[in-house]
Amino acid sequence: MIQTSPAGRELLARAPLIDSFGRHVTYLRVSLTDACNFKCTYCVPPDGYVPMGRPSYLDREHIVRLVRLSESVGIERVRLTGGEPLLRHDIVEIVRDIKDQTTLRDISITTNGSRLKPLLQPLKDAGIDRINISLDSLDPARFKAVTQVNAYQQVLEAAHAALAMGFPLKLNMVVMNGLTADEIIRFVRMAYDHPVEVRFLEFMPLCGSGWTPEKVFPISTIRSIIREQFLLEEESDRGDQVAQVFKIMGGKGRVGLIASLTESFCGQCSRIRMTADGRIRPCLFSDVEVPLGDLLRGNAPDEAIVAGLREAVRIKPAGNQFKDTPFTNQGPNTSAQADASAAVVMQGLGG
Ligand code: SAM
Ligand code: SF4
Repeated sequence: MIQTSPAGRELLARAPLIDSFGRHVTYLRVSLTDACNFKCTYCVPPDGYVPMGRPSYLDREHIVRLVRLSESVGIERVRLTGGEPLLRHDIVEIVRDIKDQTTLRDISITTNGSRLKPLLQPLKDAGIDRINISLDSLDPARFKAVTQVNAYQQVLEAAHAALAMGFPLKLNMVVMNGLTADEIIRFVRMAYDHPVEVRFLEFMPLCGSGWTPEKVFPISTIRSIIREQFLLEEESDRGDQVAQVFKIMGGKGRVGLIASLTESFCGQCSRIRMTADGRIRPCLFSDVEVPLGDLLRGNAPDEAIVAGLREAVRIKPAGNQFKDTPFTNQGPNTSAQADASAAVVMQGLGG
C-alpha cells in the first residue's frame, strides 16, 4: 500500500474536482427550498408538486458549510436557487455567511422576482454579485397564464430597481411555441434599451406531460428571428457558460441563447447541484446523486463531506440524452428522448 504523508494528504484533499471525462467542476447551484409561490406551467408538473417541507431543508449553517467545503476543492461560483429562494426567511443571512466565510468570485441568485424589490438592498449589503430574474412574458395577462400568479408588476419593478442599483441583471425567458415565442423581439428590444442580458431558454422536458415536442422553439430559429432585425456580435470565449452570448450592436444590453436540447453543452458542463435537503446531483437530467444531508446535519468531519462531493463528481454522467442526438421535434426518437427526463421536476431539484 502506498503511504501518503500528511502534507500529501493535505494536497490530495485540496485537489480540484475533475470528473471521469476530464471536466473541471467549478460551479455549484444550491437549492434553498423546493417550495414556490408561482406555478409556472413549464416547471410544475400538471398534477401539481408537493414540496418536501421545512423539516427536510438544510439549515443555514449546513448550507454555508457545504459551500465553504466546496470552495476548498475548487468551486468558484455559487448560485442560489430553488423552488423560490426568496421564500427562505433567512436568505439574507445565508448570503452574508457565504460571503463572510468564503472568497468565492461570484455569488448569484435566480428568482421569480416577486419578492425581490424590498430585498435588493439587504442582498446587496450581504454580498450578492448578480441576479437572474425569470420573466416569461411582457404582457401581464400572459404572464399570469404562464405563472398562474398576478405578479407581473412586482417582477418588472424589481427588475428596474435592480438595474437602478447597478446589479448585473439577466432575465430568463423560456420560449414556448404557441405561447410566448411571439415575444422574442419585444424582449430583445428591452435588452437594446437597457443594460440587461435577456436569455432565451429552450423548453426542457422536465415536468412530465406538461411538455410536448411541438412546444419546443429551437434556438436556431430564435437566432434567425433576432438577426432579421438586430445586428448581433458574439462575445468571444464562451468557456463553460451554458449561454451563447451576443452584444446587440448599438444597444445597451445583450442576448443569451441557451440551447439545452438542440445544441448540447454537456461537453463543457462545469456544474453540480445541491437539493434543498442536501443531495448532490451532478446532472439535472439524471437521477444519480450523493446524499449529504445526514452527514451535514450530523456534523460529520470535513473529509466525509468532501469525499461525498468527489463521489458526486466521479459519477457525473457524460451528458444527457440530447448530447449525441440533438433534439428535433420531428425526429423518430423525439418521444424516447423526452421520456428519459419526464420524471425530473426542476422545482424539486433546483433549476
Ligand atoms: N424560482 C426561481 C425562478 O423561477 O427563477 C428559481 C428556480 S427555477 C426552477 C430556475 C430556472 O429554471 C428559471 O429560469 C426557469 O425559467 C427555468 N426552468 C424551469 N423549468 C424549465 C423547463 N421545463 N425548461 C426550461 N427552463 C425551465
Ligand atoms: Fe417557481 Fe421558478 Fe418553477 Fe416558476 S420556474 S414554478 S417561479 S420554481
